[in-house]
Amino acid sequence: MEEEKKPIFDKEKATLLVKELRKRFDSGKTKSYEWRISQLEGIAKMLEEKEKEIITALDKDLSKPGTEAFMSEVSQTKSSCSEAIKELKQWMKPEKVKTSITIYPSSAEIVPEPLGVVLVISTWNFPFLLSLDPVIGAISAGNAVVLKPSEIAPAASSLLANLLKNYLDNSAIRVIEGAVPETTAPLEQKWDKILYTGSARVGRIVMAAAAKHLTPVILELGGKCPAVVDLNVNLQVTARRIIAGKWACNSGQACISVDYIITKKEFAPTLVNALKEELEQFFGKDPMESKDMSRIVSLSHFARLVKLLDEDKVSDKIVLGGQKDEKQLKIAPTIILDAPEDSMVMQEEIFGPIMPIITVDNIEDSFNIIKSKPKPLAAYLFTNNEQLKKDYVENISSGGMLINDTILHVVTRGLPFGGVEESGMGSYHGKFSFDGFSHKKAILYRTFGGDSSLRYPPYTPEKQNLL
Ligand code: NAD
Repeated sequence: MEEEKKPIFDKEKATLLVKELRKRFDSGKTKSYEWRISQLEGIAKMLEEKEKEIITALDKDLSKPGTEAFMSEVSQTKSSCSEAIKELKQWMKPEKVKTSITIYPSSAEIVPEPLGVVLVISTWNFPFLLSLDPVIGAISAGNAVVLKPSEIAPAASSLLANLLKNYLDNSAIRVIEGAVPETTAPLEQKWDKILYTGSARVGRIVMAAAAKHLTPVILELGGKCPAVVDLNVNLQVTARRIIAGKWACNSGQACISVDYIITKKEFAPTLVNALKEELEQFFGKDPMESKDMSRIVSLSHFARLVKLLDEDKVSDKIVLGGQKDEKQLKIAPTIILDAPEDSMVMQEEIFGPIMPIITVDNIEDSFNIIKSKPKPLAAYLFTNNEQLKKDYVENISSGGMLINDTILHVVTRGLPFGGVEESGMGSYHGKFSFDGFSHKKAILYRTFGGDSSLRYPPYTPEKQNLL
């Protein structure tokens, strides 16, 4: 009989780890401004010194083009870290609150305090950014933190484990590597917050595990992000920005990448031609040979995408691309015109370089199509029509929204990043990360003066008359 493989990180180890980190947190070590800053500076130094290694790991896991890897992972994480370093003092300040005359004399404030020991479970598509950005938030807020990167990007996972060990305080910041068993064991423990990034299916598992301990969660999930394209747009800019938010964004393997386009029937051929032209400008005549597009992360992810493409309902509707190479795990930028509503490409999140285009008689009809699906993580609109912009903002519910561009809302300082309904709950980025990993303690200060007898029994008619 084949011996059952024991998980590397089992329940016993998870129990010990949480116990150890809780002890460290209870010592108060992670709460000081100095500790938080030193760890954030450690991350900044690590990103500066290990940029090459990070880009190499991303090449191994995803063939992510160097420039894309730098822009979307290294540079983004660096700016998140420097924002935290710059703003931390301000974020940690208690917020004064006015009190009412009825409790005079008194003063009140909201004091942010760390939650304790927190767990970050991350995913493979932007394995550095989506691991380190939540960790930056958890550290800023003064927590001890355990990171569980995704096993699907093994080079990134192993590099993260090594780097965090070398650059950060190991007594309060740890990395667990592994797959489902190594995530299940820690999920049985009591954490003070869990931030999970990944699919809604696993999001439900995480939330059910957290509920056993009444642990709050931030769930960063996905969904089908639509891009509605009106007639009166700057065609070239629209096409370029859609490509930037799909094929030039990890080959569409991004939670906020454009999942499908909706446009007017008569405009669809013009839009397809513009996309074709710009795709050729970006990736050349043979995009399968392009070094500027990531590959599909694994054979099983590749097989899932091929299944979407090969479905009878859509295979004759491919107007661009469709080439696939199993050896290289590459799929060419593919456009499917008028994909039927009940086809798999329109039913599930694509998470790859396939773009269905749905056509409508009136652009407003797009609203019902979007509303018939679970609320997306991002919704895009390209138009010069002010009324349409207003209607879109008012009527479409999504985690985030961007008018006349794609994905840039995520890097806009001051905006929270998170989903709604099936696309997630809670949010993070910048101050929102700090808040997400803090408890806002409400404090009222009183003196012994002004002790009115009105509030105390006996409740005489004289007292009632005074109220
Ligand atoms: P996934 O849910 O399969 O994996 C993510 C993490 O969960 C990994 O660390 C993995 O080890 C762990 N995991 C997997 N199965 C598990 C189980 N049964 N029990 C416990 N842990 C388990 O997600 P994925 O396929 O890596 O990611 C794709 C999804 O993530 C898409 O829907 C995408 O839109 C979404 N996503 C969201 C964001 C965001 O920021 N909102 C970012 C990237 C991806």
